Amino acid sequence: MGFACLLQLADVLVAPDMARRVAVFSTAMLLLDLRIGLELPLATRRVLPGVKLLCLSYLIMAGFHAARGWGAVGQSGYDYPAMMLADRIVALFLFFRILQSILELYVLFSVNSVMLEDDLRVATAQIERLAQTDALTGALNRRGLEVLGAEALRKSREQGRSAAVIMLDLDWFKQVNDTLGHATGDELLRSVAALCSGSLRADDVFARYGGEEFVVVAPFTDVDEAERLAQRMRQAIEGARFAATGEAPVTASFGVASSLGSPLRALIEAADVALYAAKEAGRNQVVVAGADWPAPQVAK
Ligand code: GH3
Ligand code: MG
Ligand code: MG
Repeated sequence: MGFACLLQLADVLVAPDMARRVAVFSTAMLLLDLRIGLELPLATRRVLPGVKLLCLSYLIMAGFHAARGWGAVGQSGYDYPAMMLADRIVALFLFFRILQSILELYVLFSVNSVMLEDDLRVATAQIERLAQTDALTGALNRRGLEVLGAEALRKSREQGRSAAVIMLDLDWFKQVNDTLGHATGDELLRSVAALCSGSLRADDVFARYGGEEFVVVAPFTDVDEAERLAQRMRQAIEGARFAATGEAPVTASFGVASSLGSPLRALIEAADVALYAAKEAGRNQVVVAGADWPAPQVAK
């Protein structure tokens, strides 16, 4: 294009030749329109309404330029008004250019609305994720637990396998707040949540149920596996030294319930009753809800 401009400048300043000027300009525009027409579909991430038509219009424009350039070749000596009169393509060319501009405006607006739609979809997904996330620990909150926990149970039920709910509650947590402050209590909650969620499978759902109480929904898990998992978590918490509490040991009590086909609410209630029994039995232990919910069996 730059080279074409230089040639045209030479034509204007050194040797005025209208026909050659038209030929040079048409060739440059032909190449430019060809390039836009061919590259436009590659440049857009997805098919936008009107883009194919716009590409076609650029290719047609390239055809016009080719015809106009070809017509101008060998016609040196034409003066400008004669050239304009003779060049029937110019009228068609201008009319088509107007149509093309309207089409370009339409594509521009549709690109804009597609981008807005994309932004809206991303924002909605973010809001949904935030609405299901506990702000302090980054674990799921109750809302997230209800959605993803129920989903985990449904998958297990469909495959005819049991699913388990483990409920854990930090022991004597109020004392941490009272002696070390609320901010330290918060830090401990974050660390415990990270420790627990880090020890789970990708399919397991981990949520903060309330204050210092957390819930795991473990799909495809029978009662023995769930008990082993709860024991591992209990030992991990007992054995960990948290930055928030230093050398002071932290422990948690666990309630476990597993069944084939029970709804989430029933499993949580059974695990909660078992957790209460673990507290009653002295804390830092796992209690499994018996088959005759809600009567729990002490397992340690
Ligand atoms: P137990 O062994 O029977 O579970 O005793 P506990 O002290 O852990 O339980 P309790 O229910 O007496 O106290 C729980 C405390 O957790 C009381 C409440 O102030 C505190 N808590 C609840 N939510 C938060 C929170 O987000 N951050 C902090 N730092 N403390 C919280
Ligand atoms: Mg507690
Ligand atoms: Mg509690």
